[in-house]
Amino acid sequence: MSRAKIAVIGAGVNGLSCAVNIIENIPNAEVTVLADKFSPHTTGDVAAGVFGPRPLSFGHTDVSLQRSWFESSLKHFESLLRTEYAGIIGLEYLTGYFLSHDPSKDMNKALPWADLVYNAHLLSKKELDLFPGYKSGICFTTIVCDCRKYLPWLMDRFKRNGGKVVEKKVERMGELNGHYDVIVNCTGIGAKQLVGDTSMQPGRGQAIRVSAPWIKNFILTDTHPETYILPGPYDVYLGGTFQVGNWNVEVDKIDKQTIQEKCFQVVPSLKHAKFLHDWVGLRPVRPTVRLEKEIMNVGNAKLKVVHNYGHGAKGVAYSWGCSQQATRLVKEILSDSTQHSKL
Ligand SMILES: Cc1cc2nc3c(=O)[nH]c(=O)nc-3n(C[C@H](O)[C@H](O)[C@H](O)COP(=O)(O)OP(=O)(O)OC[C@H]3O[C@@H](n4cnc5c(N)ncnc54)[C@H](O)[C@@H]3O)c2cc1C
Repeated sequence: MSRAKIAVIGAGVNGLSCAVNIIENIPNAEVTVLADKFSPHTTGDVAAGVFGPRPLSFGHTDVSLQRSWFESSLKHFESLLRTEYAGIIGLEYLTGYFLSHDPSKDMNKALPWADLVYNAHLLSKKELDLFPGYKSGICFTTIVCDCRKYLPWLMDRFKRNGGKVVEKKVERMGELNGHYDVIVNCTGIGAKQLVGDTSMQPGRGQAIRVSAPWIKNFILTDTHPETYILPGPYDVYLGGTFQVGNWNVEVDKIDKQTIQEKCFQVVPSLKHAKFLHDWVGLRPVRPTVRLEKEIMNVGNAKLKVVHNYGHGAKGVAYSWGCSQQATRLVKEILSDSTQHSKL
């Protein structure tokens, strides 16, 4: 039997999750990752990587679908956290606070998936007193994934399974015609150009990484832009911005100053943290995540494509669940093709 040839375009957290899932679950598949950027230059490398069940950028994607992606991904990361490799993969459990200035804020609605993370509870008055000015809040434990470690680990797992990698920019989908049985499109914001998806927009995020080993809990607030202070396995992440439509990948001094002021207001001791890096990334924002099959007409040929892009601010937290679904779609296409070839 000939091997199914599958191309995954994109080496971000969604592309590599798909590549690993496909190569490990579709027997005899020959899988190639094609991408023009790799870690540490993908969007995930800039991400906080927190499994925060915040409503932010839910968009119009069916909420039960999003919940299932979140839950499947959480289970995957939980199982990795139980292995000896958790530190190498950049994973940790982290406890912290989501805070609001609004006393009437319904925190159960603000965190609709609080049941999926751990030990979520509304803050008592005594706990709220720790954060002067805030009127309501919730405390929970969740998972943080530092993609600067996770992506190289995924890539290594893919290669150990026989996966191939080609560094190249795919200018047109038609270039791949005749070379692959199925193409999985995980190009993030690149989908705007590659498949002409005009609904794609950048959600520009700027953040700062500092060394502040005394910070042990995360703090997220519902201010606009959101403030987040997030101690990861290697440093503390201070954010951030979410500027839809802004393509600027340079560090903006005013954004930096605003992030610092807001974070220092919540935790004044951060003024003495050692500065490490500024980070800017473009979240792939779309009204809905695009996770579906498409038969694309390219000249006289038909390309069989599975799209998996447009995860906005949730790309890390949904990555494993979405890649499992994308793998099921690839299997469906391959089995349809086999049935047709038998007719
Ligand atoms: C500041 C910030 C904070 C964030 N925080 C979180 C968080 O806490 N939790 C969370 O879940 N998410 C977070 N996100 C969102 C998350 O980072 C993204 O949703 C996710 O990384 C998107 O991954 P991706 O693989 O879809 O796309 P990308 O990482 O953008 O990867 C796209 C890949 O496709 C390749 N590509 C594109 N076009 C082409 C082409 N034509 N030819 C060849 N290759 C191509 C690129 O080279 C790249 O390899 C954050 C993002 C930012 C910017």
